[in-house]
Amino acid sequence: MSVTLNDIRAAARRIRGHVAETPLLRDEVLSARLGQPIWLKCEHRQITGAFKLRGATNAILSLPPEALARGVVTASTGNHGRALAHAARALGVPATVCLSRLVPENKVQAIRDLAAQVRITGASQDEAMAEVARAVAQEGMTEIPPFDHEAVVTGQGTIGLEIGTPEAVLVPLSGGGLAAGVAVAIKALSPATRVIGLTMENGAAMAASLAAGHPVAVTESPSLADSLGGGIGLQNRVTFALCRDLLDDVILLTEAEIAAGIRHLGRAGHVVEGAASVGSAALLAGRFVPRGPTVCILSGANIDPALHSRIMAEAA
Ligand SMILES: *Cc1c(COP(=O)(O)O)cnc(C)c1O
Repeated sequence: MSVTLNDIRAAARRIRGHVAETPLLRDEVLSARLGQPIWLKCEHRQITGAFKLRGATNAILSLPPEALARGVVTASTGNHGRALAHAARALGVPATVCLSRLVPENKVQAIRDLAAQVRITGASQDEAMAEVARAVAQEGMTEIPPFDHEAVVTGQGTIGLEIGTPEAVLVPLSGGGLAAGVAVAIKALSPATRVIGLTMENGAAMAASLAAGHPVAVTESPSLADSLGGGIGLQNRVTFALCRDLLDDVILLTEAEIAAGIRHLGRAGHVVEGAASVGSAALLAGRFVPRGPTVCILSGANIDPALHSRIMAEAA
């Protein structure tokens, strides 16, 4: 296997002190309603507001000194871009984020605020990715991708060392870096624990790829779980095979179910983005029936405050 429990233990030692060890809190409302202990792994309280800091920090700390001097690069504007910019600054490594002209100014500014160099090129994400490839080939930068990379997967997998050995773990699923890393750790420590991937119905690339038996492209459509969008890469190297071999099931959620998950968590004081609410959403909707202690990974907090207020104000 490309990623092992020992790799994840080594990653945990490497990133200690650079990332927060987030709390594991009981969801009292769902525990009472469902008759099983439901726990929330609070990565929405991670520095930068999402678990991606673990993978980005581990990937940077795994590079040789000559690569560190030339810097790291990505085309992500979301939680991975923020994580890489933050980790690079904290570790004294130059970071570049390549963006297309379509990226909204507030996202561009958020990355500039983290002291990363921003390069704006082209009118599509594909052109931003071409600029990453050019920076790698001509300037010797190292690309740190958002999920399909061993050091990123092992970094995300450190969450699996912090949640004990429940009966089930509910993991938000997009490119599969989080689910693959957590599944490697959990299945090695507790083979009977079920690891379930959760994602939205609209444009779920990993779910479609697992169903097809190989990586496929999907048409994207807007979702409250915007951090779960994007493809898995038709040349996927690491995460597809791990998800195929280790996930017990994948559950697809509607937008209304995701909104209800955000609302449920919001009432308990957890402001989370749609991607982070999917475990709670599945439990609330009866789409996943717990048979014992169950951990939901709350993967991130980066939701537009106006959108969050709107969802909280809706009925139900
Ligand atoms: C990236 C991300 C995910 C999905 O992680 P993958 O490793 O791509 O599957 C889930 N939730 C949040 C908040 C994210 O930023």
